[in-house]
Amino acid sequence: MKTTTIRIFATFVAFLLTACEQPSPPPSSEQPPASAEAATTDIGTWLGTERLEAADTDTANWLAHGRTYSEQRFSPLTQVKADNLDQLGLAWSFDTQSTRGLEATPIVVDGTMFTTGTWSVVYAHDAKTGALKWKYDPQVPREYGYKACCDVVNRGAAVFEDKVYVGTIDGRLLAINANTGALAWEQLTIDPEKPYTITGAPRVANGKIIIGNGGAELGVRGYITAYDAQSGDQVWRFYTVPGNPAEPFEHPAMEEAAKTWRGGKWWEVGGGGTVWDAMAFDPELNLLYIGVGNGAPWSRYTRSPGGGDNLYLASIVAIDVDSADLAWHYQTTPGDNWDYTAVQQMILADIEIGGEMRQVIMQAPKNGFFYVLDRKTGEFLSAETYVPITWATHVDPETGRPVEDSAAHYLDDTKVVRPGPAGGHNWHPMSYSPNTGLVYIPVVENRLAYTQEQNFEHNPDTWNTAIDFRPNSDLSDDFQVVTKIVAWDPVAQKANWTHTHNHEAASGLLATASDLVFQPGANCEFAAYDAHNGDKLWSSQTQMGTIAAPISYEVDGEQYIAFVSGWGGASGLYTTVPCADGRRAESGRILAYKIGGTATLPEAPLTPPIPAPQPRLEVTGAVLEEGELLYSRHCGFCHSLGAGPGGVIPNLAHISADSLAAWDAVVLGGSRRNMGMVSFSHLLSLEQSHAIQAWVLEVANTAAEATSAGE
Ligand code: CA
Repeated sequence: MKTTTIRIFATFVAFLLTACEQPSPPPSSEQPPASAEAATTDIGTWLGTERLEAADTDTANWLAHGRTYSEQRFSPLTQVKADNLDQLGLAWSFDTQSTRGLEATPIVVDGTMFTTGTWSVVYAHDAKTGALKWKYDPQVPREYGYKACCDVVNRGAAVFEDKVYVGTIDGRLLAINANTGALAWEQLTIDPEKPYTITGAPRVANGKIIIGNGGAELGVRGYITAYDAQSGDQVWRFYTVPGNPAEPFEHPAMEEAAKTWRGGKWWEVGGGGTVWDAMAFDPELNLLYIGVGNGAPWSRYTRSPGGGDNLYLASIVAIDVDSADLAWHYQTTPGDNWDYTAVQQMILADIEIGGEMRQVIMQAPKNGFFYVLDRKTGEFLSAETYVPITWATHVDPETGRPVEDSAAHYLDDTKVVRPGPAGGHNWHPMSYSPNTGLVYIPVVENRLAYTQEQNFEHNPDTWNTAIDFRPNSDLSDDFQVVTKIVAWDPVAQKANWTHTHNHEAASGLLATASDLVFQPGANCEFAAYDAHNGDKLWSSQTQMGTIAAPISYEVDGEQYIAFVSGWGGASGLYTTVPCADGRRAESGRILAYKIGGTATLPEAPLTPPIPAPQPRLEVTGAVLEEGELLYSRHCGFCHSLGAGPGGVIPNLAHISADSLAAWDAVVLGGSRRNMGMVSFSHLLSLEQSHAIQAWVLEVANTAAEATSAGE
């Protein structure tokens, strides 16, 4: 057996932007009913359109996802500074009792913090003390975990007037009374027959709540929908890719887009282009900016074999927020072929370029280029690479189009391409400081071996990328995934400074007006850096890996820095970064820090040792080969399989005797569906299920032997 296989799902799939099932929270039947647990929140000042548009001058609060409509994620607060960092301590913590990823950015309005957790649960806390005001559990059916590519995460709420808005994994948009936690209304925003999920935060603009969705790995057609904030009525829907050409176009932008899709039957898989994370809004221009995702399937050779740009995949699209008319678009990766979404954060800023003040929009999408565009017109201003890439040589400054490198064309041969589908930068929030003029980007240098799947057929019950991932197991060189903070100068289009981490997973950033950059990390460490040069000035242990970004706010004259800390997300499904002391909290938390904070965390338990593998099955090489293929097709998107500890979903190399005995009941009988592990009986026969089992035990034993041999 090739020992390199052991690394396959622990390293490359770790970066696949995927997710699935769910081994931990209690079955939904044991959950409390979908209702508020408590009441009475004094939300204080009415949070209307005027106040949201003036959020930048409201320094004490964090009123919107990116603090302001500009999505800069910059806090003007200065109480916490380099001089007193040694007094920064924990003010309060809250245990979310969840074991999957926490990705939310909290919203803080006049002393109340609104945030979200695993399975789209919504929380309101006293932002000064951490006391829970109310909690709303939308009771997402656990089977939905299988449809969520990248863990059952939620990136946050929006607050407007008297309500809190949240999208759920199962595709609903909730409006919750901000005072009481009672449901005001909910709308199903998706076709439940299709594998749509929502993990992104809604945005508020002109009295409308805007929500997108995800699912392009399994196969859906992307769109965003605007709902009236008070009534919940749908105002408009904007599709990002054309549907079946035999049917009428929904709007003129679709007619234009359809001309750029050629051959193939993309509408059967869905075409992709999901808007699963970033949006920004310019109230003066009345333009809503949406980041559009990858193609479905990933392979353009399958999706659009006649060529074409496949609009509006991998694009920044500007829409009039009232009419939903397309204003302009800029496609970062024409004819996307590598899962290069452009859903990543978009920052609006006014910066001086060539002696002229420009209203720009900036993005570091997955494809590795940092873009600066005119946000009024979409005019291309500049683009340079913020990570090493191999799919393009440069962006033509005249046309604004990337010049592809044929070394990344994998129709006939496997090609190793940088970056891989994790992207040079993913959803992890970056932060722009108007003080330093730098954009602080959480960067991951990674790669993937892309191979065209021969004889691809759409299967509505599983992933549909048209990529064969198995050749990744044969990459035997010493390539290392590297995570960094890159402080990017958007005018000079180059790094001003770089800080390299000693682990492989990214997390979000916050810059403040005292010229500090804060980052809680995958390695259970919360650190502060000098915004001018990247010097590490302070750090503290958090007992848990963090992937989310911090925010800052002020209550009663004290500045807080807070974040949700819960390991999981795409890479967290398969990998864990150890905490320095070998101890790790069993649940996610909300953590809030302030100067003079003296709160403490209970001692975390020691991480258990890795158990010995269960014995191999005596089977033929052909059975093992089939097991490998089926594992890569159906299991590897969620489960790791190898020597390491694995992530938040069990590493099957460490399967227990009890779980092995229950294999058929779990895999085919669906006995753990309430934990998110759905039945695969519609995809696998008993024989095939056993072939996977044989492969799992083969890899488990090979991994254990390699470890004990000191490899
Ligand atoms: Ca994707």
